[in-house]
Amino acid sequence: MRKNLLQTGKDTPIERFYGVGAKRAEAFHKMGIDTAEDAVYRFPRAYEPRGNVKTTVTAEDGEVCSLILTVAGEAKNAMIRKGMTITKFTAFDCDGTCSLIFFNQPYIKDAARKGMTFRFFGKVKRERTGVSMTSPIMEACIGTAPLRDLVPIYPLTAGITQKFMGSVMREALNAVQSETDGINEFLPEDLRTRLGLCTLREALLLIHEPRVWEDTARAVRRLAFDELYLFALSMLLYGKSEKQSLSEIYRNWDDTPFLSALPYDLTGAQVRTVQAIASDMKSGILMNRLVVGDVGSGKTVCAAYAVYLAMINGKQAAMMAPTEILARQHYADLSEMFGRLGFRTGLLVGSMTPSAKKKVIAALAEKEIDFIIGTHALIEEAVVFADLGLAVIDEQHRFGAAQRSSLAKKSRETHILTMSATPIPRTLAMVLYCDTDVSVIDEMPPGRQKVDTFLVNESYRSRLNAFIRKNVEAGGQVYIVCPAVEEEEKLVCENGETVTENEAVPLGGREEEKPRLKAAVDFAKQLSEEVFPEYSCAFVHGKLNGKEKDRIMNDFASGKISILVSTTVIEVGVNVPRATLMIVENAETFGLSALHQLRGRVGRGTRKSYCVLVSDSKTQKAKERMKILCESNDGFAIAQKDLEMRGPGDFLEQSGVKTRQSGEFDLGIASLEKDVKLLYTAFDEAKRTVAEDPTLSLEENQMLSKTLKAKLYKRQNVLV
Ligand code: ADP
Ligand code: MG
Repeated sequence: MRKNLLQTGKDTPIERFYGVGAKRAEAFHKMGIDTAEDAVYRFPRAYEPRGNVKTTVTAEDGEVCSLILTVAGEAKNAMIRKGMTITKFTAFDCDGTCSLIFFNQPYIKDAARKGMTFRFFGKVKRERTGVSMTSPIMEACIGTAPLRDLVPIYPLTAGITQKFMGSVMREALNAVQSETDGINEFLPEDLRTRLGLCTLREALLLIHEPRVWEDTARAVRRLAFDELYLFALSMLLYGKSEKQSLSEIYRNWDDTPFLSALPYDLTGAQVRTVQAIASDMKSGILMNRLVVGDVGSGKTVCAAYAVYLAMINGKQAAMMAPTEILARQHYADLSEMFGRLGFRTGLLVGSMTPSAKKKVIAALAEKEIDFIIGTHALIEEAVVFADLGLAVIDEQHRFGAAQRSSLAKKSRETHILTMSATPIPRTLAMVLYCDTDVSVIDEMPPGRQKVDTFLVNESYRSRLNAFIRKNVEAGGQVYIVCPAVEEEEKLVCENGETVTENEAVPLGGREEEKPRLKAAVDFAKQLSEEVFPEYSCAFVHGKLNGKEKDRIMNDFASGKISILVSTTVIEVGVNVPRATLMIVENAETFGLSALHQLRGRVGRGTRKSYCVLVSDSKTQKAKERMKILCESNDGFAIAQKDLEMRGPGDFLEQSGVKTRQSGEFDLGIASLEKDVKLLYTAFDEAKRTVAEDPTLSLEENQMLSKTLKAKLYKRQNVLV
């Protein structure tokens, strides 16, 4: 029986939709769709360009397009294997004929009656024997509604087909356009018109039922703005936590012993940073500072400065790094210097034996260790501090929000210092880290050499090997980074759906070609056994245990190993001054910032250093991206370009936004919007809104306030 859908609105439960029984309802709930409103916020991930109509002559071999054809003769069914049928018939247009072939769709025989005209969408095959299409989508040209030129493809779950999703979506779109209970505009009219954004209802309609590509762009712009603007507002309004006062005042501020123990003078930017740290710690309020600086800009010493201040005031300090390699490196760099200054430094990492760990944990509780350096092992429950005063998080974007804060929670009163090599433009940092003070280290220690960067393809392999040899012969060391081995993504096939997923055009444009990833293991073996048998090569990857990894890294750092092949485990802060050459295989698979980080591993000593990006990628976009790296050594400039090329959503996600204290915040569609100005606009508008109406209580902001609260409530199940 057809359900009563007369009185519907945005809150209509999904169960009330035509064809949705208990089973499908469950599938929808699993996708997070409970109501009509939820449904229309499930955006297509791609569109089939069925309006791309060619003829039997103009369609190229392999082209995905539509042909408008009239059935020439009766369709025939045949059994080809047990339980498998094949349906064949011929159809024609004004230019010629085309064979149509369908598998396991015997009902096509009756549908394709002689003389009827259909639109067939799929891949055209052009052979000597003629033109054919196999299992295209077939739509009758004479129907109740005109055929759509762009057909949305939805992300699905088991039990729901594209077709069904499409029909639910049409009902849902109707429901949310209801005069009385529909979705309401929440952007203040003035703001919406000033920015030239379409209305919310229009945007929702256009994203699901675009007539032309421009429609999708209009819709994405509006919907992406919504996401970014609401996100920025939520950060500005609810992201701040109370500043906590210190009950114990620090009294000792003599930093001279520390500064004179350093083998170098601090750079101007470092001086500004440590001064800010000192004044934070003097303020009587808990410090929460983020130090942002390019790779190699010298963030560690600033953190060490804070550690020193905490320790001379009788407090313990902890530094957490994302990898064991990095933690051990910090330990090697800092423990000796602090030892000379009279402090005890400890190390706690996952690969240590249980008894060694126990010893360190006991020493921490007894305050026999002043400064502990470690990995995630530090936030395990067993770790208890006698008197933790400072928590340092290195490479903060590598940790989730919960992990970051749980180190500080080990004590009642802990200053927090986080460090990041992802240079975030300042305006963003102000909102993203509205709770945090930000120091930017925008100056490199003196004597750093520019790392010359080149982009080459596979045809340079032998020259590249000769270059490696030359570097090693001159006493340098070489990193070769390959992407980790990944499984090919599997395509989800669906009953009755005939166009394969990869023939559709994703929302936001076609993706780059799928790169063939080098099997890192084989590659490493080949290098060490066949290409460079005379040098010592080693291979590190994520699956090695910590001890093994450390042994190799130590051997590399001490010069015992000349060529280190690795997956990206070396990406973070490892320091080997004699390394002069960084080679990145399949460079197109890495993000710009990641490549810049990798490059930062060389050029840390006085020798001339090089970075070679190896890529066979033919796509213009990939080449452009890599060219930026060849032309610039400035991390901030590269981050800005990265942001422009990848779009706001990806960038924010990489900056750790999805896991910030505000919980999950959906930036689904924003990552498709490549116009980075929109990101700044959204953030600027949010600041302006909050400045004019800090509680969102003005008349024109009522809907906005409601929407924001509903969104936050829904995402986090907390009331604000
Ligand atoms: P990052 O900011 O990437 O964490 P590090 O703190 O690891 O960088 O510093 C990189 C290298 O620069 C280290 O070897 C460090 O000793 C050195 N360094 C830091 N500050 C200075 C300075 N002011 N003068 C000279 N060398 C410095
Ligand atoms: Mg570092």
